[in-house]
Amino acid sequence: MRTRRVLILGGTAEARALADLLAGEPDLDVTSSLAGRTPDPRLPAGQVRIGGFGGAEGLAAWLREQRVDAVVDATHPFADAISRHAAAAARATGVPLLALRRPGWNAGERDRWHWAGTLTEAARLLPGLGQRPFLTIGRQDLAAFAGLPLPFLARSVAPPPPPLPARCRILLDRGPFTLDAERALLREHRVDVLVTKDSGGPATAPKLTAAREAALPVLIVRRPPPPPGVPAVAAPAAAVDWLRAL
Ligand code: NAP
Repeated sequence: MRTRRVLILGGTAEARALADLLAGEPDLDVTSSLAGRTPDPRLPAGQVRIGGFGGAEGLAAWLREQRVDAVVDATHPFADAISRHAAAAARATGVPLLALRRPGWNAGERDRWHWAGTLTEAARLLPGLGQRPFLTIGRQDLAAFAGLPLPFLARSVAPPPPPLPARCRILLDRGPFTLDAERALLREHRVDVLVTKDSGGPATAPKLTAAREAALPVLIVRRPPPPPGVPAVAAPAAAVDWLRAL
């Protein structure tokens, strides 16, 4: 049987876990793709390419050129452009596509969660929920809050690009974060509302527990809808099963 070529669209812990699992498969030739936005990214096992493809058409051309047999879209649940491009490129080329998406978070009984459909809606709701917000939405979307005069604390892996809120303290840090550290951070900065995307996963979940313990409201942004018609699994091992079954 000829070696089959697999492209993992990555940039997440799940994508790295999948690349690790596939590193031991002798009949698979695996390449992980990163957008290239994070300086000094955590690199997955195996071959890595970095940078955009040039839209859905560029990705389709790459799949043809590289004779890719299967694609796993393991990008972040909020990275919706690349997921739409992957769906379109898979349709255009006939290359099988699987989405690997970690499940979203669910509120428990003592949680005070307020859902927003978009970051713009979150910015509209925020002043009604607290006056000392902690933004944990990554580095690319702070512009949505730029018009608010609140004293923000914002955490991201790398410095966020402008525009930023006029009063904004940036904390550069990379998960996973511990519950003790999250508790201390909320106390130290007298945070009274937490803002997050529904990213899911354990690495950044302790902030939700710390907010629950402190009875703080959490403003949580819903995931964009996934592209229709793409089969999805929640765990890297299930993506390995899908590849084996092809
Ligand atoms: P996006 O809005 O969906 O993508 C924007 C463009 O970046 C895409 O059109 C594509 O450029 C390029 N791109 C994105 N992911 C790529 C990948 N894995 N390989 C090659 N090119 C990629 O994505 P984003 O929200 O900017 O996120 C970029 C990356 O960071 C993703 O890989 C994602 O997994 C990771 N990430 C995102 C978030 C988040 O909250 N959005 C959080 C953590 C990690 P072309 O059109 O030129 O192909």
